[in-house]
Amino acid sequence: MIIKNISILSFKKMNIQKNMNILIDQGRIKDISSVLTDSELSNEVVIDGTGKYIIPGLVNAHAHTAMTLLRGVAEDVTVDDWFNKHVWIYEQSLTPDDVYVGTLLGAAEMLLSGVTAVADHYFAMDRAFDAYVESGMRANISWAVFGTGPDNETQFETAMKFTKDYSGKNSRISISLGPHSPYICPEDFLKKVSTVSSKLELPMHIHVSETEAQVLDSLKKTGLTPIQVLDKTGVLRKGTILAHAFWATDDDLRLIKERGSGIAHCAKSYMKFGDINDLLPRAIKAGVKIAYGSDGLASNNTADIFEVARDAALLAKCASRNSEDAKISELLPLLNNGDVIGLDDYGEIKEGALADLVIIDPSTPNMMPGNNIFADILYSLNNRNIHSVIVDGKLVVENGKLLTVNVEDLKAEATQIAKRLLATVSKKPMQNY
Ligand SMILES: [Zn+2]
Repeated sequence: MIIKNISILSFKKMNIQKNMNILIDQGRIKDISSVLTDSELSNEVVIDGTGKYIIPGLVNAHAHTAMTLLRGVAEDVTVDDWFNKHVWIYEQSLTPDDVYVGTLLGAAEMLLSGVTAVADHYFAMDRAFDAYVESGMRANISWAVFGTGPDNETQFETAMKFTKDYSGKNSRISISLGPHSPYICPEDFLKKVSTVSSKLELPMHIHVSETEAQVLDSLKKTGLTPIQVLDKTGVLRKGTILAHAFWATDDDLRLIKERGSGIAHCAKSYMKFGDINDLLPRAIKAGVKIAYGSDGLASNNTADIFEVARDAALLAKCASRNSEDAKISELLPLLNNGDVIGLDDYGEIKEGALADLVIIDPSTPNMMPGNNIFADILYSLNNRNIHSVIVDGKLVVENGKLLTVNVEDLKAEATQIAKRLLATVSKKPMQNY
């Protein structure tokens, strides 16, 4: 495949290379040049990039993708009620086939908004795996385990069997271990998971320090912050995805940086729960690896990472009450920071890098007159500007249309499943928050 005459944007260098041609072969960028050779011109798939920009694919570093099915079901509620009165009630009726449909719906939404890689933390991940294979998306998936509750041993064994059966099965899909959080997993359980992680050389993906109350509670019970608990149990290490860490202290941030874990920042979810903190500017200053996350769509409502980045900018500026914080040049590189989810060669269009790319068409009124493409991408772009998306060297979205999934069929199936889930009546949630 060849993309002709396009402007390449680098968020790391904040520069534009105009009128370039990108040659893609076997899932990677083979050549970038301003002149095409005759043999390159004979390439069968040619995309004309005239008037358009190309950027590396976006990363969603923390998602529960199948929760698309629960979009809009728990609004204007506290965190406790969100879990105990809504999400953990409905999820009791969730079947593996539901997870497949919900994941496929989320993958469709992500690809159409330029997200090429996701770290998904949920249940029935064998079916999520099928959905990612079918959608053409890149994913890191982890089967969530709670560490407490009557079924936790069986749940752990199921997750471990999945891990063994699915590791290395598809080059686009990698596996992580998914202990839920220090507030649901006791310390000995976290130790057990981190030992398995070392033995199998698999990274971990975990929730931590989402709210101030969680940090205060942990300090009261253990004398340690939740981040320190993760360090004590061996979970805080290179490769671990820390979902949120929104209430990490400056000492926590230094520890995270030292250990080499990365943070998935889900700004829209925090704001929906009425929370505010200047974590992002502090984490950037501390040199911690950060990418954006959508979390589940029962709290975030969309899987659009451009939207999360915009919310992150606004949240950071408000929290520090400083309009000079969270600069465009600091926030744009986090859009495709694959490093957080274990992807090397991501986030920069260069020879040898994975060919996960997004073509932006800026010709709509919302991006005119084009004075500052970087500001337009952070603050003005919407899904209509996502022209084409390439994952692993294959075109998955062309001219705003998804090529891999029949969205019409999917909509009907998802609506039926959602009706059934919402009819779940139970006095007890599947866990207690
Ligand atoms: Zn989450």
